[in-house]
Amino acid sequence: MTAVVTRIAPSPTGQMHIGTVRTALFNYLFAKQQGGTYFVRIEDTDKERNKPEWVDAIWKDFEWCGLLPDARYIQSEHANRHRELLATLVSEGKAYVSKEPSRDDPSREVEVVRLKNPGTRITFTDLIRGEVSFDTTELGDFVIARSMHDPLYHFAVVADDNDAGVTHIIRAEEHLSNTSRQILIQEALGFPRPQYAHIPLILAPDRSKLSKRKHAASLEQYRDEGYLPEALINYLALLGWNPGTDEEFFSLSELIERFSLERVQKSGAILDETKLRSVNQHWMRKLSVDDFIERGNLVAPDTERLRQIVPLLKERAQTFAEVREMLTGELSCIFSEPSLDSTILTVKEPAERRGMTKGALESLLDPLQSLSGGVSAEAVKETFMPLADAAEAVGKGGRGAVLWPLRYALSGQERSPDPFTLIAILGKETALSRVQKAIAILS
Ligand code: GLU
Repeated sequence: MTAVVTRIAPSPTGQMHIGTVRTALFNYLFAKQQGGTYFVRIEDTDKERNKPEWVDAIWKDFEWCGLLPDARYIQSEHANRHRELLATLVSEGKAYVSKEPSRDDPSREVEVVRLKNPGTRITFTDLIRGEVSFDTTELGDFVIARSMHDPLYHFAVVADDNDAGVTHIIRAEEHLSNTSRQILIQEALGFPRPQYAHIPLILAPDRSKLSKRKHAASLEQYRDEGYLPEALINYLALLGWNPGTDEEFFSLSELIERFSLERVQKSGAILDETKLRSVNQHWMRKLSVDDFIERGNLVAPDTERLRQIVPLLKERAQTFAEVREMLTGELSCIFSEPSLDSTILTVKEPAERRGMTKGALESLLDPLQSLSGGVSAEAVKETFMPLADAAEAVGKGGRGAVLWPLRYALSGQERSPDPFTLIAILGKETALSRVQKAIAILS
């Protein structure tokens, strides 16, 4: 049996679409599972649309994802070989030079090269879609080169796939219609036919095609939003493939073991951001404290405090963008003293009980004072909850009449972790001084 060789063939025309990452992933998984090789070929044949900076971005993106190729090719470096093959086809009479008016300027005559299309029916078994059949007569003698020096994209693809020994072409469904054209070129060149597997499109929740203009569709966007590569890979694998069980979390090496083309669906795969976020949270939670800070590029004025709140961040955030937002927003109170607004402080005060907030806060000073150092949020809760419950029992505006001003005094935020957690993190002295400050602004 010939060793499996797969490839991903991105064109360097812009930021990498996550669909390309998924196609790369399926190619990578299949090759690795079969003990084969997987390579990346940059398809830069279309000179007008390609930019060198996007070539660098492609290498970096695949590295970031952990999809490291066994070999790297650049299509334009094979241009001589493409020309040689084209010349052979023409000399064998399987293609011919055709003088015709230029499409851009009909007054000018150009010499394009057309394939002599035998007009056969092309049938192949797609590993995902089953038997696919195309009548190729309508393609006519299609153009395969702009001139003897300038073979077109389909020609270059067929030549390169053959020369690299590609056994399986796993690519997006949108290329299905190119396959008959490419097989015709292959047959003319006398090349063996690889196996094909066309994977379903990724669709937006409204079932429209996921486009970079309308949706978060590029790898770059997901990276900026603070998704981990292991999470993105895990999620993208599930976008079109399923393990046949309800397991959801897979590392790359587990995917190599479990992946199979038979379990790739035919219909479009709908991007589910809620699921992606929860997969990301799963992988974020698996990181050690130090890795969490490093991988999230997290900075805070006090590193020790930052380390201390990592469990809290793991509980509350699903992406690193959210973590960063929390550090400068609802959790900023952990690093700097908040400024307080007396109207917000007293917002839970019933109209008939004006002034009660101050009394409630004052009643917390002694219990705060008596807390021991290094106390856990649980222990703080055990101390303060009965006080809040007592307030509720005597009808002083409910538990919230105590817990709200306490939380707000500590955080200066309308949304923040609960006051017990805040006290445990801030420590008794800081908590006491913030409550005293709140009492002062109510005096
Ligand atoms: N260059 C094509 C693309 O970027 C890939 C074609 C193929 O996989 O055969 O979509």
